[in-house]
Order: sequence, then structure tokens, then C-alpha cells
Amino acid sequence: MSDGWDPHVHVEVNVVRAGKDVRNLLASTFGLVSDLPAEVETGCGQRVAFVMTSPHPERVTCLPCREFASDKHRQFADQLVNLFRMSPGAGLAPGLNVTAEDAAQAVARYRDLAERFAGRG
Ligand SMILES: [Zn+2]
Repeated sequence: MSDGWDPHVHVEVNVVRAGKDVRNLLASTFGLVSDLPAEVETGCGQRVAFVMTSPHPERVTCLPCREFASDKHRQFADQLVNLFRMSPGAGLAPGLNVTAEDAAQAVARYRDLAERFAGRG
């Protein structure tokens, strides 16, 4: 606020949770549901209005944030792999219907996002 207008579009530090489907997936698995705040911390360590952030690689113009998001998505994909490996074939939790195919698609999508944030997509 005090340092003037920042024209860059950033990613929020919790960028990997930004996707609604995965938020829902994780919410139904772990009960982690949080509403999006008006102001968020960015991958490059600033605080900006949430509207100045984006989970879409094509829209993020802040370079440190792009690198941050690429790393985070790659790490998250790896975490998902481990998570799904713990409960092969079956649902992750009672009443939750996540197939191996769903899991593979989610992992592939996060790896793809990581590549696009890194500018290689
Ligand atoms: Zn940034």
C-alpha cells in the first residue's frame, strides 16, 4: 500500500491450493477449508490484494513468483504421488471417491503447471 502501485501479477504463497477442485479434494480428505482472504502473501514475500494474484501461469508477470509457483507445483505433484500411493486403488477416506485415474490426472496437471510457470510449457 505504501510503496505505490505494483503492476505485477503475483502468485499467492498458497498457490497450489488455488484450484477449486483440488481444494475440494483436500478439504474432503483433510477437512482443510479456508476462505480466500482479501489480502494475501505472495511468493516473492509481499502482501498484495488477492485480485493482484493469479493461479494461471499465463497471467503471472512477477518473475520470482513464477519460479516460486513452479517449485511449489512440482513439490505438490510429488506430495500427491506419495499421498495416493498410500491408499492404492481405494478412496483416500471413507466416502471419498478418488480413483487412481483421478489421482494421475491431478498429478499430471500440477506437473504441467510447474512447467508452464517455469516458462517451458
Ligand atoms: Zn511476486
